[in-house]
Amino acid sequence: MSVFLNQFPSGEWQKNFIPFEEDASQRSWLMPYLFVHGKKPGHKITIIAAIHGDELNGVRILHELCAHLETKAAEISGSICLVPVANLMGYANHSRYLPDRRDLNRMFPGLKDGSEGARLANFLWTHFIAQADYIVDVHSGSYNRWNFPHIRGNMKDEAMRAWARNVERQIVLTSGGVAGSLRKEAGKIGKPVFLVEAGETGRFEKNILQMGLLLLLQILVSLDAIDRSVYEAATAAALPSPLKDHPTGYYRKAVWQRATHAGLFMPQVAPGDHVAAGQALGFITDLFGDKRAEILSEQTGFVLGMHLHPQVVPGRALFHVAYDFKDL
Ligand SMILES: [Zn+2]
Repeated sequence: MSVFLNQFPSGEWQKNFIPFEEDASQRSWLMPYLFVHGKKPGHKITIIAAIHGDELNGVRILHELCAHLETKAAEISGSICLVPVANLMGYANHSRYLPDRRDLNRMFPGLKDGSEGARLANFLWTHFIAQADYIVDVHSGSYNRWNFPHIRGNMKDEAMRAWARNVERQIVLTSGGVAGSLRKEAGKIGKPVFLVEAGETGRFEKNILQMGLLLLLQILVSLDAIDRSVYEAATAAALPSPLKDHPTGYYRKAVWQRATHAGLFMPQVAPGDHVAAGQALGFITDLFGDKRAEILSEQTGFVLGMHLHPQVVPGRALFHVAYDFKDL
């Protein structure tokens, strides 16, 4: 049954588990969720993290979000459900994937009597997704990749564009998602879904967690779930952001710039930087330290993500550059 149908007292955060199947030692997996019915009417919002089990930034960001809203539960409009660890098995194994090496984010909406992953997808869908009006799915760069905090959503959809218009001064990349992803499948039945990307796997960075928290607060303001003053109170303590002068709009395209030679890659820009076409993104040296190649930006755009490990081979994706900016 959907958690949104529970008769929890309004204005109080609930922190509960729902049992899901068993592991091989016959212990139930326990799915944690944090939930609040506001005192005022509004949207039903689900924010889910760690669909990829090693992407932990979202877990921490949801914890910080709940802590931030804990004393303000009485002021919340609508209902908010936070699911910090969607892929329990991947999380337990420090893995992006399910134990059978499949990707949970290709298995939505799932199947009650299907494979282990399909059952988990169906469980998440039934309890947290099917009744939600708006969904936010929090991710990090995959292994050895670092993403500047940004949101992805299908800007061909008018409801998504209207939502994005209310989330000011954030980096938005249009993207519909692939078949079986939560974003694609929920979108198919008319539910607006934003995917949030923030940072990398395996490391908490205070700056990234803070930016992720502000992004989620901004998303909640955009849906009238919380008052703008709650977001503004959080920004007062925040570090300066490269986004403060960024116009509201979205990037229509993004390209991975790849290594042309093998060697050691020395970056000269970082995620969050604006770059011009022809500008050096970095260079690759040989074993004597001599330059083998410069990597020049093909586009004028915004650096969304980068590869972290210095050793590279031809074809290795080095920088993810968003470009073709458009007003909303
Ligand atoms: Zn992910």
